[in-house]
Amino acid sequence: MPDDEKSPDLKNICRVVKVIPENHDTASIFLEKPDDGFNRRKAGQFASIRISGQDGWSEPHPFTISGAPEDELIRLTIKKEGIFTSAIQEIRPGAQVKCMGPFGVFCKDIDTRNTIVMIAGGVGITPFLSVLRHFRNISAQNRVTLFWVNKTTRDVICSDEIRDMTRDLNLKVVHSLSREDDVGHYFQQQFPRVVYEKGRLSVDLFRKHEVLNEAAFYLCGPPPMMESALKDLQDLGVQPEHIQQEKFSW
Ligand SMILES: Cc1cc2nc3c(=O)[nH]c(=O)nc-3n(C[C@H](O)[C@H](O)[C@H](O)COP(=O)(O)OP(=O)(O)OC[C@H]3O[C@@H](n4cnc5c(N)ncnc54)[C@H](O)[C@@H]3O)c2cc1C
Repeated sequence: MPDDEKSPDLKNICRVVKVIPENHDTASIFLEKPDDGFNRRKAGQFASIRISGQDGWSEPHPFTISGAPEDELIRLTIKKEGIFTSAIQEIRPGAQVKCMGPFGVFCKDIDTRNTIVMIAGGVGITPFLSVLRHFRNISAQNRVTLFWVNKTTRDVICSDEIRDMTRDLNLKVVHSLSREDDVGHYFQQQFPRVVYEKGRLSVDLFRKHEVLNEAAFYLCGPPPMMESALKDLQDLGVQPEHIQQEKFSW
């Protein structure tokens, strides 16, 4: 039945196909596409999800589509924060959810930028996972540096996949670990473009990794990390119009 002929209650309903744990507090949920609109999604866009409970459908919550836009299924990578994000991780294949979207313009036109700096905090990696998976699919050669802040390597997700992408793409990954002191032993010679730094992001760290201030900058993460990264970029002389941001809050 065409989507616009469905009753409002049935619209946007789709089935959970699989759920895979990514680490101790994060899981990926794979959904069937609820409608053809998702065939036109762009890397980095998000969906709005409702789950069903005793009182009917929940309030909608936004999650970035972490899979590539070319993927058959809609992949969402969700970190447990509160009631909703804990409940959705308990969902099992075959369950139904409501999935609206795709929404957002965060990484619009990123394919056209030659030099890209991605700055992610924790689960704020999801739009960049989508873009990098898309770049891998289309063999893009844009020069990308990904700075990714986590407390420890325990919090890093999809690390082998991202590491392997440094072979396929023009990609360098800087893991910034805020609660680890000894990070040198994580370095693997066969992956020279994956490096580990201790502490948080800083102007010195951006300079050390030769960030060009005319690059296109994309920021996504918790508000304090975003504010501090924005200040660093300002100190580096990056023009505000070269910075795109996605806040995981509303
Ligand atoms: C565009 C966008 C993309 C996102 N993508 C992802 C993603 O890919 N992966 C991921 O794990 N998270 C993502 N988030 C964050 C995610 O939506 C929230 O963490 C989640 O909805 C919070 O659920 P909860 O379990 O804390 O909710 P609840 O426990 O149900 O919420 C508790 C209370 O906090 C309020 N609240 C909850 N979250 C927020 C918030 N972020 N801002 C303001 N008030 C809030 C609720 O209104 C409610 O009153 C994204 C957010 C946005 C805006």
